[in-house]
Amino acid sequence: MIFVLSGPGGAGKNTIVDRLLARDPTLSESRSWTTRARRPGEPEDAYNFVSRPAFEEHVRNGGFLEWAEYVGNLYGTPLPDAHDGTDLILVIEVQGAQQVLERVPGAVMILVVPPSREVQEARLRARGDYDEHIEARIAIAAEEERIGRALAHHVVVNDDLDRAVEEVAGILASYRNPPAEEDPRHA
Ligand code: 5GP
Repeated sequence: MIFVLSGPGGAGKNTIVDRLLARDPTLSESRSWTTRARRPGEPEDAYNFVSRPAFEEHVRNGGFLEWAEYVGNLYGTPLPDAHDGTDLILVIEVQGAQQVLERVPGAVMILVVPPSREVQEARLRARGDYDEHIEARIAIAAEEERIGRALAHHVVVNDDLDRAVEEVAGILASYRNPPAEEDPRHA
């Protein structure tokens, strides 16, 4: 199965997924490529950090399941490796989410939103984003949420991390062992 976790920067998508991965060995996360520079203190393996020409060549070679430009940088999900028995979770912005939903029948889209712009901005500052990146991310957040809500099978408000993690875990579980009449993909 492919689960897509999407939503504006600072919604807490990565924090939620890190918690889920730590407790669920049957879930794995795709490692994206990006042309963005690594932030101070960001782990080297947070992304496959590449140049724009290298990214564009991978696009031409058909190497991405989806890719998008976000605040001046390119981000993409490489085509998944041969199936290893785990369900895959993609943590991506909404343009990429749309592409995955078009390409992968049955993919499940969960939109994570922050409880307020103030909380979103505080989270972006806390993780060391550059000021111009923070402003740009806040500026597009409302539009991202609008697009995301139109695509999403589920919307989770990340007001309290523990609660949001449990809500997302419950959503994943419902698809892995689904009572069919509750599956919103059948709606
Ligand atoms: P950041 O620069 O904060 O790491 O990521 C910016 C945005 O790009 C976030 O919303 C993040 O989830 C998204 N993103 C990360 N990897 C990918 C990817 O492979 N494809 C797409 N479309 N978005 C991604």
